[in-house]
Amino acid sequence: MRIAVIGGGIGGLTVSLALNKLNIENVVYESAPVLRADGAGLALGSNAISAFSVLGIADKVVQGSNRIKEFTIRNTDDKPLISRYSECILSDEFFHSYAIHRSTLHSVLSGSLSDTKIVTGKAVIDFKKNLKGVTLFFSDGSSGMFDYVIAADGINSVFRRKLVPASHLRYAGYYCWRGVADDFQPEDISSAVEYWGTGLRFGIVPLPAKQVYWFACINNHNDDPSLMKIQKDDLLESYKNFPASVSSLIEAVPAGKILLNRISDVTPIDNYAFRRIVLLGDAAHATTPNLGQGACLAIEDAATLYTLLKYNGDILESFEEFSRIRVPRAKYVVSQSRQTGALASMENPVGIMLRDLLFRMIPESVTEKQTRKILGFSAELN
Ligand SMILES: Cc1cc2nc3c(=O)[nH]c(=O)nc-3n(C[C@H](O)[C@H](O)[C@H](O)COP(=O)(O)OP(=O)(O)OC[C@H]3O[C@@H](n4cnc5c(N)ncnc54)[C@H](O)[C@@H]3O)c2cc1C
Repeated sequence: MRIAVIGGGIGGLTVSLALNKLNIENVVYESAPVLRADGAGLALGSNAISAFSVLGIADKVVQGSNRIKEFTIRNTDDKPLISRYSECILSDEFFHSYAIHRSTLHSVLSGSLSDTKIVTGKAVIDFKKNLKGVTLFFSDGSSGMFDYVIAADGINSVFRRKLVPASHLRYAGYYCWRGVADDFQPEDISSAVEYWGTGLRFGIVPLPAKQVYWFACINNHNDDPSLMKIQKDDLLESYKNFPASVSSLIEAVPAGKILLNRISDVTPIDNYAFRRIVLLGDAAHATTPNLGQGACLAIEDAATLYTLLKYNGDILESFEEFSRIRVPRAKYVVSQSRQTGALASMENPVGIMLRDLLFRMIPESVTEKQTRKILGFSAELN
């Protein structure tokens, strides 16, 4: 049996590990010349750790991570608006949540994949499927026939575009800059914070080894490309009214190491399984980063597929069942994340005042319920 995993990102590597655990041979094809280990920090919610525990690598991931006990949204005067996450409200059935450097997670994943053949510098540009299999066409002119394909080729997935032509990227209305400051000691290493201003916000997430991950989202409703050219000095100017730690963190990252993303998600689709091809991770359900859940969902996908294949050896049936289970889950997270982004990027002062008032009135039990729904993942099948 020949299985191809397309994409050596977090989703592709995690699902390859899942297949290895089931002794299912697979090959990963990655378009980049080397497995990409760059990027900044990553929040790994309790749901991702739960999924990693199913795959047997939770301990290794946790070892390279920093435990986050509290995540609070604050205004620019440093006053709390709402608690996004608090470890103490979650019961024992939940794993803890963590933050990790992306390169550390990539190392843990690729280090656990000694049995996988990973072919880099090989991009799929097209495919054809028939009853017997899927033919992949690569950018170097070669092609190959596979029995099954797991498409984890990210937000611009070649597979999703062809299989679900109506799906499209939805620009979220803001750009996001990210950096990791070295040798930086935050006041409380177990607390993450996001400061919400008017049309811009700034997040601070402590990582292990005195590193701090930050992200800065600034509204750009008209998608003006000139904002792409923003320099570090412009960022400092934009955030000058935020708490002092914000400027220190921006200062601490060399300009060349600050990353920029134009934030989009994908219009939710109703099916991830197309007989011998299944979509996974961002290829299936890219979300805005407002809840820090995109990679977590990809990891959940891999653990779910693992459990389905383990208890039902039939791959086609498992793909179908995977889609049935994952579509509603991902739709919920994508929509919650988009709504959070809309609240976070408000500009109208009256609207902001009402939002903040509403936040103060929301009973803890309501936020707790939402947190539980987002972080509560079990790969156990009902
Ligand atoms: C600003 C920002 C902050 C974020 N923060 C968080 C966070 O804190 N927590 C969280 O859980 N998520 C976060 N995310 C989301 C997370 O980065 C993604 O959801 C996650 O990386 C998806 O993994 P993936 O493997 O599905 O896709 P990708 O990481 O995009 O990997 C796809 C891989 O496929 C390769 N590829 C693409 N096309 C082809 C092709 N045709 N042939 C072969 N290979 C191909 C690519 O090179 C890439 O390596 C954030 C995203 C952004 C933009």
